Amino acid sequence: MNTSVLDNPIEYLKGVGPLKGDLLRKELNIHTFGDLLNHFPLRHIDKTQVSKINEIKFDTDFVQVKGRITEHEILGAGRGKRLVAQLHDNTGNLELVWFQGIHWIEKLLEKNVEWLVYGKPGFFNGKPQMSHPEMEIAADVQSEGKPFLEPIYPSTEKLKARGLNGRQIGKLVYNLLPLISVKDLPENIPQHLIDKLKLTPRLQAYNQIHFPKSVESFNYALRRLKFEELFIAQIRLNITKVNRNRHSRGIRFEKVGELFNDFYEKYLPFQLTNAQKRVLKEIRNDTAHGHQMNRLLQGDVGSGKTIVALLAMLLAADNGYQSCLMAPTEILAQQHFQGITSLLKDLPVEIRLLTGSTKAKERKIILEELQNGSVQMVVGTHAVIEDKVQFQNLGFAVVDEQHKFGVAQRAKLWSKNEVPPHVLVMTATPIPRTLAMTAYGDLDYSVMDELPPGRQPVSTVHRYENYRMKVMEFVRSEIDKGRQAYIIYPLIEESEKLNYEDLMQGYEQVKSYFPEHKYKISMVHGRQPAEQKEENMRRFVTGDTQIMVSTTVIEVGVNVPNASVMVIESSEKFGLSQLHQLRGRVGRGAEKSYCILLTGQKLSNDARERIKIMCATNDGFKVAEKDLELRGPGEIEGTRQSGALNFKLASLVNDKEMLEAAKSYAERIVEEDEFLEKEENAPLKNYLMLVKGKTPWSKIS
Ligand code: ADP
Ligand code: MG
Repeated sequence: MNTSVLDNPIEYLKGVGPLKGDLLRKELNIHTFGDLLNHFPLRHIDKTQVSKINEIKFDTDFVQVKGRITEHEILGAGRGKRLVAQLHDNTGNLELVWFQGIHWIEKLLEKNVEWLVYGKPGFFNGKPQMSHPEMEIAADVQSEGKPFLEPIYPSTEKLKARGLNGRQIGKLVYNLLPLISVKDLPENIPQHLIDKLKLTPRLQAYNQIHFPKSVESFNYALRRLKFEELFIAQIRLNITKVNRNRHSRGIRFEKVGELFNDFYEKYLPFQLTNAQKRVLKEIRNDTAHGHQMNRLLQGDVGSGKTIVALLAMLLAADNGYQSCLMAPTEILAQQHFQGITSLLKDLPVEIRLLTGSTKAKERKIILEELQNGSVQMVVGTHAVIEDKVQFQNLGFAVVDEQHKFGVAQRAKLWSKNEVPPHVLVMTATPIPRTLAMTAYGDLDYSVMDELPPGRQPVSTVHRYENYRMKVMEFVRSEIDKGRQAYIIYPLIEESEKLNYEDLMQGYEQVKSYFPEHKYKISMVHGRQPAEQKEENMRRFVTGDTQIMVSTTVIEVGVNVPNASVMVIESSEKFGLSQLHQLRGRVGRGAEKSYCILLTGQKLSNDARERIKIMCATNDGFKVAEKDLELRGPGEIEGTRQSGALNFKLASLVNDKEMLEAAKSYAERIVEEDEFLEKEENAPLKNYLMLVKGKTPWSKIS
């Protein structure tokens, strides 16, 4: 085993010691020299640039000024308590403010020295002010003769209070860099790519990202390290994927048989779209060769994913295998079950519904039937993958609305049969391509980019709450034409009680607009017993009630083509993909449909932006891109825990092109040399062997 200085415990670095070492571990997860090396600067200060205080303008970004502290005092009490100091540079006065670490910082504020002060200024009562600036005694800085681009690092309040602010961490890195040689950071990208893409060599890149010689060399270093991040991730994903595609044993569906053909010819209620046909072919092809299929199916809301899944399940049955379809909610599972049962009513297929609320006696029977093979299809919730559920020969598994399903659950499915079943994962709404490429890059990938014919785009409008009366009048006019409407209230877990009250109040209000003798209302929410929920749903689905008042339990998948209006209350509280998903509940039939986004008067910029996007486009792929831009990848549901998105430098929003490039190089390399045996791929192979087990990757898939 090679030892590297990078593995040294952090407290052994000059300037750290046990106390600070402990803090670095706890606060920043920095345990070793290597961890510190990978703690990248937030930005750099151009040390040669010192501005005058009277040059600070309203739109000044980060700036450095030099001056003396003339006075300081602690003001206010409680949460308003703050330390205020005046910095003077003979052109003017800059107020410095601290809200945390006040007492500790006050002790450091020497008056008779010149300070270099760096930060983002603002204005308060017309006077320039800077809160929590980076401070350094000017004389100290000059005596060290450091380069002119000084890094500022992410730090925390606790670290700052112990002498490790963003600037001081830089001193540690400065001590660290000379200890590191090329032996510690061997090249991990094949030389021909380094040459072709003009990538900075690895060791040099690490040096230059921390203490760059120039802005240009910093940019090169950043580009190299971003590419490395994306490229290595893509190599891993492709190895997993190729490995599975070529070497995993999988069930072979030999034929397209009677069930599939009968259904296709006699019972299919419509013509498939070209996109649906294409995806079916892909599935047919994947399952015919004796390797396990893992396919992600992305389609916009309403693109008709369910029928594709059903046809694939029939294919499994034709080949003597069982299949399952899992949905994220009970309501959706029920609806799938009812839909599928009625579509297949004249075919010899046994189907069961298995959810958390299936009665013990019935459950026992279903479990037996699944085990002895007398049932071919089971539709359900998570209940389907519980350990107690044993199949005779599960050959095909569909996970509907992947956003709510974790990676671990997917993995659980694979162990349901001796030879792992084929898996089709369907997303509820599209996810941006860059996310799909990283979070699900080990899966094969189909896109349904076509809606069934005759769909009209949903008209989406924004209205303020004081307009509700008019909105309800509009809803009434639609209902009087024979349509149905949804009225949705937000449900946020932390304040469930409050939301529940909101919902109840809303319900009363809706009742007052729609008198009982003329209109019938269903209400569905999370606190109802399952039977009641089911009954209310059923009545709406069958058209017995005209209005569905609900929380977001309705969100995914529910299909009532006659519904033409979706009113979303407090829609500023919803995320973009959730809004799009809700809107997808209408516009499913031939009628023109409407989505009305009600909000309060006060909107945050982000909320305003979300509403704007919703009104501007019906395209789920566009909405998804915007969602990623607004929220960042960490917040996109279902991908948070995947570990695949923990890029330190690369951004899925800003580095799309680089990601595409990294992906295509990685694909080619793994395609030609999956075990990385070629001489030219040795750097890559050595690197992967070295870091194996240290990364989250081994746990994924
Ligand atoms: P999603 O992709 O959102 O899950 P669904 O599978 O629920 O969409 O399908 C939405 C609606 O479109 C359903 O009513 C379904 O029966 C209908 N549908 C699906 N495919 C077609 C098609 N090719 N032609 C017409 N209607 C279709
Ligand atoms: Mg669906």
